[in-house]
Amino acid sequence: MKKKSLALVLALFWLMLLCACAAPAPDVTETATPTSTPLPEETPTPTPEPVEETEPPATPAFSLAAFHKDNSAAHTQEVRYGSHEQLRELYELSAEIGSRCGIRIRIADLVPEVIMADGNDPMLDPVLIRHALETVDRVLSIYPEGFFDQLVYGDYDALELYIVGFSPVGTGYAGQIGVEGESVNYICLDAETWELIDAFCYVLPHELTHVMDFRFTALHDRDPNCLFSEETWAALNPPGFAYAYEDNEMENEMYSRFPEYFSYSYGAHDPLEDRATLFGDLVSCYLLDNYAIGLGEGALDKLEYYLACVRGGFDTSLWPEQTPWEVAFARLSGIEAAA
Ligand SMILES: [Zn+2]
Repeated sequence: MKKKSLALVLALFWLMLLCACAAPAPDVTETATPTSTPLPEETPTPTPEPVEETEPPATPAFSLAAFHKDNSAAHTQEVRYGSHEQLRELYELSAEIGSRCGIRIRIADLVPEVIMADGNDPMLDPVLIRHALETVDRVLSIYPEGFFDQLVYGDYDALELYIVGFSPVGTGYAGQIGVEGESVNYICLDAETWELIDAFCYVLPHELTHVMDFRFTALHDRDPNCLFSEETWAALNPPGFAYAYEDNEMENEMYSRFPEYFSYSYGAHDPLEDRATLFGDLVSCYLLDNYAIGLGEGALDKLEYYLACVRGGFDTSLWPEQTPWEVAFARLSGIEAAA
């Protein structure tokens, strides 16, 4: 080999050696690259959208304390003057008593026309009207704070009391009417004579019992805890008893068979009159301090149930521990009233 060829061979040799050193030695621990078919790409599972919890539509819990309308305007009444100047002070007195209780009291020509229908003249005697208003005040004042506000509820916008001088249905009556665009619970009282006015101590609580009953009937449909029901009331009457409604003969017969269950015969007329005669008696006992009426066991049981319905059917947070009618009941039933 020529010297030049030898140098070329050597150069090639060194070049090959250099390349071999530069190539990294295979890692013996390296696992062979798998030759299997790559797995298909996984379809990513979509992240579920945060689902808003759909609760069943909430039925607002029934609130007894909220089961009446705002009656505050009835406590700050402007005096409404009618057209009889001699009654000026009495228009003012009726607004003053009404504002204290939350009832609108209408006298003379301010009694709504719908009540004065059938040609009845307004009662305009100032002496009788004053006596009537003072007696009304005396009766209303024994009802606990906020009591009358709670008789303005549901469809009803106001409680009104009318002093009239005629007697289309007994000495007083209660009802529900529309007056001047409002729905009104009302009580109408006949003040034509002194005797009739003195009877307000029974008649007004009697009519107020009807207005309470309207509330209990409305509550019965809405309040799951409502204690009052006509079925429970009916079960407190003796076997063989039935209300007479318009049958006067039957009314007397039923009363004479079961007198210990009633205040007097009118109680056998229908359940509303039964409750109103019993509760009216109870309140008048308190007002007149006259417990001579006495009541049978059956009547006392019915009253006891009704008093529980009254406690349970009103928000009593502002009531005294014992209402006047509860005091009267304790006395009538021979239980010593709590000191
Ligand atoms: Zn009645």
